Amino acid sequence: MLDLAIIGGGPAGLTAGLYATRGGLKEVIMFEVGMPGGQITQSSEIENYPGVIEVVTGMELMQEWPKQCGRFGLKTEMDEVKRVSENSDGTFHIVTGSGKEYDAISVITCTGSVPKRAGFKGEEQFFGRGVSTCATCDGFFYKGKEVAVLGGGDTALEEALYLANIASKVYLIHRRDEFRASPATVERVQNNEKIELITSVDVDEVYGDKMGVTGVRVISKKDGSVREINVPGVFTFVGRDVKNDVIKTENGFLCDVNAAGEVIVDLKMQTSKKGLFAAGDMRIDAPKQVVCAAGDGATAAINAISYVDEYKG
Ligand code: FAD
Ligand code: NAP
Repeated sequence: MLDLAIIGGGPAGLTAGLYATRGGLKEVIMFEVGMPGGQITQSSEIENYPGVIEVVTGMELMQEWPKQCGRFGLKTEMDEVKRVSENSDGTFHIVTGSGKEYDAISVITCTGSVPKRAGFKGEEQFFGRGVSTCATCDGFFYKGKEVAVLGGGDTALEEALYLANIASKVYLIHRRDEFRASPATVERVQNNEKIELITSVDVDEVYGDKMGVTGVRVISKKDGSVREINVPGVFTFVGRDVKNDVIKTENGFLCDVNAAGEVIVDLKMQTSKKGLFAAGDMRIDAPKQVVCAAGDGATAAINAISYVDEYKG
């Protein structure tokens, strides 16, 4: 019986592993389907992780984390977790892609969430070179420049407002002329003189050169007219897919999730199922930053230690 199973080896999972093992749990396994490090390893530069003054790649930022965990006894299984279920005694059963099975007193799930792609031409080619899904991460690179934002939900409008504080102008591009964001947010956007609304358009292409994005072409759905918007940055916010498959059951989920599939947790990262914790980008209200995911992982581990201690009496 494991003390703790950690699912996902991104910033949340690795930090959970560090705190759990250093905090005294003996049998802890972190399951990771790829290489530990998480989605930040795809980033070519990160400059907002506290204490790391130089701009580094995501890979560079994460490379020491697994080694640090290993010093305190964290075991890593390079295996995909397929499903977590509850045993009749309240412990958890874990099944992996390679067919291995484990039981654990507690589980921290931190499998992340991924931004959806919008599907326009140039999106993949320029992803990370002008096309971004994270204003907090990349907005600063466009200080004093013009940018475009795609989407009409709360995220797109809130991020457009955030970017308007940094960029000289924000073009908010949406495929309809009504927004699904909350009316108060729509009003704030409409009243922001740095934001121009471009509605009822389809994005035809984001184009650029060797240096990155130089513009976006949109086509009016009303009259077919074409408009070229010359911007070096295009931020897309068209929804996210939460990676919550591991906690799916035949009838729903092992614990409460919201309509978007994000795991509902309290301030201890405890889910509605005792002994099951969730951390990082997959939880409700996650700021989707490395430092926040790491903080969640630490919080979850500290509370998992208490839970395991109590369970063992
Ligand atoms: P993730 O990093 O997504 O890690 C989840 C891990 O779980 C992954 O390694 C995945 O392989 C694994 N996993 C998933 N399912 C399973 C399974 N079934 N079994 C086993 N393993 C599984 N944040 C910043 O703070 N600053 C930035 O500048 C910044 N820039 C970014 C740039 C890019 C291009 C991207 C994509 C993200 C950026 N972020 C940035 C956001 C940051 O990467 C995330 O907020 C952070 O990685 C979330 O950590 P996490 O541990 O919750 O999830
Ligand atoms: P969302 O509500 O699903 O909105 C996605 C937006 O992207 C929609 O406007 C959609 O257009 C557009 N879109 C989807 N696919 C597209 C494509 N391929 N090309 C162009 N546009 C596309 O996602 P979200 O904004 O990330 O919000 C997710 C959930 O979190 C929502 O429930 C939201 O209310 C909530 N949230 C709340 C807050 C808050 O309360 N402060 C903040 C952020 C998010 P259509 O409108 O035409 O479908």
